[in-house]
Amino acid sequence: MNTSSLPIVMAIAGHDPTGGAGIVADVQTLTALGCHPTPVVTAVTAQDTRSVKQFTVVEVELVIAQARAVLEDMPVAAIKTGMLGNPEMVSAIAGILKDYPHIPLVVDPVMVSGSGQPLSEAAIDEALRVLLLPRATVACPNLGEIQRLAPEADSPSACAHALLSTGCQHVYLTGTHAQTPRVINRLFTEAQQPRTFECERLSGNYHGSGCTLAAAVAAHLAHGLDAVTAVQRAQDYTLRCLKQAIHPGQGQAIPDRLFWSRDPESGPSGRRH
Ligand code: PLP
Repeated sequence: MNTSSLPIVMAIAGHDPTGGAGIVADVQTLTALGCHPTPVVTAVTAQDTRSVKQFTVVEVELVIAQARAVLEDMPVAAIKTGMLGNPEMVSAIAGILKDYPHIPLVVDPVMVSGSGQPLSEAAIDEALRVLLLPRATVACPNLGEIQRLAPEADSPSACAHALLSTGCQHVYLTGTHAQTPRVINRLFTEAQQPRTFECERLSGNYHGSGCTLAAAVAAHLAHGLDAVTAVQRAQDYTLRCLKQAIHPGQGQAIPDRLFWSRDPESGPSGRRH
């Protein structure tokens, strides 16, 4: 394959040994969507499909060394961040990004696991808001995360505008946790009406859906798509992964990010070729 058609996407995230969330989810998504993933590991978690047992954040210097080694060697087309664990890690990543202002950045502000257990120190909220979100091309919070990132705002829309005011270009607020019959995700952009992306509500309980969605946005930005198209395609892809999720453990289902590989006639976009 001609590597010039294979954009490189750096995923800076934690490791989940179930393969459901974290860096494995990012790598599978990026691979499925025609990118070359470069995984930078920030933390190691011990968890199953039901709960997080423990986690350790990798030494910050080692994370910086991982990222710089790749960034100085390869033309990275987009960067996606997931679990960063503590404010020091956020600060270190923000420092590296200052040297690469042209690379699109997708921030998944991971604070807790899908099962509700912490994956970061509480003080990470402010570090994400002050240091990383101002640099984000697209931030992908869910309702719980956006309330923590903008605690002074009194509605989800007000939270999104508070994040835009930091300099973040787009806020893609997912509505999975809202009590609506269909899932309503919204893309907020400064000085524009929010765009709404609706999709059916699935009944399952999934591990790594947020990671899949954010990594898919990064993949599409790396392919040169604008944020609106990237978000729409990422949502369509994630829904297909969730519909074909597998149940390898005793808890949450895991999205099947390579569903199309078992059907050689169809690609990840769902188009037959
Ligand atoms: N990153 C890691 C390392 C995780 O373990 C988890 C959840 O357990 C997440 C991110 C967030 O996963 P989700 O996409 O389900 O929000």
